[in-house]
Amino acid sequence: MHKYVIALDQGTTSSRAVIFDEQARIVAMKSYEFEQIYPQPGWVEHEPMAILNSQTDALRDVVRLSGIPVEDIAAIGITNQRETTLVWDKKTGEPVYNAIVWQCRRTAPIVKRLCEDGLEGHIRETTGLIPDAYFSGSKLSWLLDKLDLHERAKNGELCFGTVDTFLAWNLCEGRPHVTDATNASRTMLFNIHTNDWDDTMLEALNIPREILPKVVDTSGIVGVLDVEILGREIPVAALVGDQHSALFGQCSFEPGMMKNTYGTGCFLLMNTGDKPASSKSGLLTTVAWRLNGKCTYALEGSVFIGGAAIQWLRDEMKIIERASETETIARSLKDNGGVYLVPAFTGLGAPYWDMYSRGTIVGLTRGTGRAHIVRAALESIAFQSADLVFSMSADCGCRPVELRVDGGASANQFLLQFQSDILGCDVVRPTIIETTALGAALLAGLAVGLWKDLDEIKGLWQKDLTLQPKMGEEQRKKEIMGWHKAVSRSLKWLEEDN
Ligand code: ADP
Repeated sequence: MHKYVIALDQGTTSSRAVIFDEQARIVAMKSYEFEQIYPQPGWVEHEPMAILNSQTDALRDVVRLSGIPVEDIAAIGITNQRETTLVWDKKTGEPVYNAIVWQCRRTAPIVKRLCEDGLEGHIRETTGLIPDAYFSGSKLSWLLDKLDLHERAKNGELCFGTVDTFLAWNLCEGRPHVTDATNASRTMLFNIHTNDWDDTMLEALNIPREILPKVVDTSGIVGVLDVEILGREIPVAALVGDQHSALFGQCSFEPGMMKNTYGTGCFLLMNTGDKPASSKSGLLTTVAWRLNGKCTYALEGSVFIGGAAIQWLRDEMKIIERASETETIARSLKDNGGVYLVPAFTGLGAPYWDMYSRGTIVGLTRGTGRAHIVRAALESIAFQSADLVFSMSADCGCRPVELRVDGGASANQFLLQFQSDILGCDVVRPTIIETTALGAALLAGLAVGLWKDLDEIKGLWQKDLTLQPKMGEEQRKKEIMGWHKAVSRSLKWLEEDN
């Protein structure tokens, strides 16, 4: 008899379900998009039932499409868009409001107030985060105030949850109110050192403990799937935030191992082992996963404009038709001709943290053409990612040995080779680049004993492609210097407070 594991990958724009077999190969996949709601500039919401229904439909349909018998499904793992905030009635399950999506900026004034009250250092030290409206805490605080829910929250009539919590509550029998440590570590309410909700933050945001979920291991049975859904009770055996899931799916189990996901933006995470590393360059410290009550930690950095720079070439500049063309165009030149593009369209994140910087192209000459701009855009994705890797290496005093990659733009081998050249280390792409789903599947399979330990899981991970550095040390230094010079020209472009 064969055994299978299903990952539910609930993302920002779509809900997917992916079936993996015992060798961690993909057997079938189904996804449904759902509506993005923008009630005001800077506000983003999802309809909670649209999240739930698209996810349940994907689950039912993938099982039907695959034709595998339901009794052969050993477990289900849930991975999710992080930080998105929901509140619902404990009795009826009815959401009190739309889900407030991680991208939503409506609570920026609340976060500003926390900083004015001198909580920045506390947030950094206990939660590992930088005070920001992305994280769930200020969103939950806003909801309780706006809808005047404090009494009901205190009386235990309401549940707060991120998407993992909301799905587990709705999909499982007995309605478990749980979240895992990775999702908890994105709320700005969770002490990542003690593994408990932080009273100082709860008080500052006026959030009663009664509304919060219980924090559980990343891999472990939280309940069984409601028998109505597939006609059988299947253990739901993992909850994990999407980026953490991708790090696990890349089997980056040892300290120093890291992964980069090249999507619209890029997300780089480095395993730092059983101690949280603090960052001098404004990277986030986060729980990588919690297994058997023991946390592994990670440093996380993101590039705001990654693949989006390529979309910009296509949709605004109209100098390419398809993202995939950029590889051949970039290869048509022997080098970048000294042209650098800094895609600081929305400011720059770590390690620069300058929201007043703006996009810049420098080094233009009479001979500069379309190919130079395209190549510079691809190189900018690698340079920005390299800045994160250099910062992480400085923060934890280790040299990068290998970067594991996934995401849509990891299809571009020019980009991966250039990344390897600039980092001076191997860049490795696995056969399965649905790494986010894979991580949740592996964590769920681990919980039910389909795989016995991390060593066995490591054996399932397979390389598709390895890119080794080819650039000489001198050239590498020159390139990085050129990039940093270009970045310096883009910084503080807007006048502050104008
Ligand atoms: P997301 O999950 O953020 O929507 P994906 O992982 O689907 O993103 O990747 C899509 C992004 O990758 C887009 O921004 C696109 O421009 C970029 N992209 C896709 N294919 C290529 C390619 N061959 N070369 C460069 N960029 C690419």
